Amino acid sequence: MSLTRREFVKWMAASTGVAAVAGCADMGTGSAGRVVVIGGGYGGATCARYIKIWAPDIDVTMVERNSTFVSCPISNLVLGGNTTMDSITMSYQGLKNRGVRVVQDEVVAVDIGARQVRLANGGTLPYDRLVVSPGIDFMLDRIPGLRSADAQMRVPHAWKAGEQTAVLRKQLEAMRDGGVYVFHVPLSPYRCPPGPYERVCQVADYFKRAKPRSKIIVLDSNPDIVSKKGLFLQSWNGVYKGMIDYRPNSELEDVDVRDMTVKLTFDSVKGDVLNVVPPQRAGDIAVKAGLITANQRWCGVDWRSLESTAVKGVHVLGDATVSAPGMPKSGSMANQHGKIAAAAIVALLAGRPVNRHPVIMNACYSFVDGKSAMHVTSVHKFDAAKNTMVAVKGAGSVSKMASVEEGNYAWGWARNIWGDALG
Ligand SMILES: Cc1cc2nc3c(=O)[nH]c(=O)nc-3n(C[C@H](O)[C@H](O)[C@H](O)COP(=O)(O)OP(=O)(O)OC[C@H]3O[C@@H](n4cnc5c(N)ncnc54)[C@H](O)[C@@H]3O)c2cc1C
Repeated sequence: MSLTRREFVKWMAASTGVAAVAGCADMGTGSAGRVVVIGGGYGGATCARYIKIWAPDIDVTMVERNSTFVSCPISNLVLGGNTTMDSITMSYQGLKNRGVRVVQDEVVAVDIGARQVRLANGGTLPYDRLVVSPGIDFMLDRIPGLRSADAQMRVPHAWKAGEQTAVLRKQLEAMRDGGVYVFHVPLSPYRCPPGPYERVCQVADYFKRAKPRSKIIVLDSNPDIVSKKGLFLQSWNGVYKGMIDYRPNSELEDVDVRDMTVKLTFDSVKGDVLNVVPPQRAGDIAVKAGLITANQRWCGVDWRSLESTAVKGVHVLGDATVSAPGMPKSGSMANQHGKIAAAAIVALLAGRPVNRHPVIMNACYSFVDGKSAMHVTSVHKFDAAKNTMVAVKGAGSVSKMASVEEGNYAWGWARNIWGDALG
């Protein structure tokens, strides 16, 4: 079957690629075993759900500190006033209905030798296979002015959707017309390469409607726009012309919360609303469990099973992994990691070999206003010679321009992946 680019994009919006995780053909009952999943985000929830679908006899417990799932994808639209917190907040009931034991708690330690995790409430959970999908934590030791909880509320990152998203939206609403929103972007790699530039579009869309004399200063640590540059510039130099002052190579030194100033190596920038996204690494529990293998930040994995290269029997998913070349830190990718790991765990617990040729795909949409979006897609396959995932040449695509049609696909993508992870 050959697909046109348009058909491929439609298919990506409608499907989350179960079939693409080749090697899951034998989705039989598997043998019983105990799996503990840390983190109920894009990676962890998907993995828990697919283990239960493919091998209902396996006992799956997912530990998540939050009571609900709040999606980062689409959260920038909340900042733009183009959707609500309710629309990105979902329950874990679907997973419970499938037989996943969902425990609302925090994993505070992993005892690798005893094969058990310890919870903040004092309890322990034993496992045969452990899945760690904790997302990111921030390297706040590099930004003394943002270390306190109070400082983080006054200068939010809103890079983990939830309370922070609501706080930043309120600050934007309270800002006077003619005010300045200062947004600092960390050096790549960080969670969601196009996310910062989508955020700029959303805030610009809101200002254009509600506070047309206001300005946006983007302080980017990177030398240039990291993702979909030409497409973002169509909006920045088009409908938002004159609103956005983009300053590359803006390395962050610190933040002065009292003075509402972002301090750069050679400059200081004052604003009415400051939004600083700190540099990131794998979530704290990955550090505590000894899973970090690269730059004291990320976790190395075997891409055929997502098993940690540092600790046997532990699978690491999503943003916490050392990204393979050309692979973004995205919800789409974390969802696909979840499926590879689920298939591998089902196989390993049944004494079968894991698939040696996994193929996965990524789709990232960005909204430039309340309705129009654009996409970038890619396909990644395991390359045995290179021992990593590589992007398949010619398999991906990128929009020519943002459109309302793609905005509809983007909402379709979101609803499908939420169903695929939580339903
Ligand atoms: C503004 C923004 C926009 C984005 N837009 C897109 C997009 O359009 N498309 C896309 O594909 N991606 C997008 N992303 C990226 C996407 O959100 C992440 O890549 C994705 O969430 C990664 O999944 P994960 O499972 O690694 O982490 P998460 O989804 O963050 O899940 C980690 C979970 O683990 C829990 N946890 C961590 N430690 C513990 C512990 N010790 N005990 C218990 N629970 C714990 C956390 O509470 C969290 O729920 C966006 C991100 C941002 C910030």
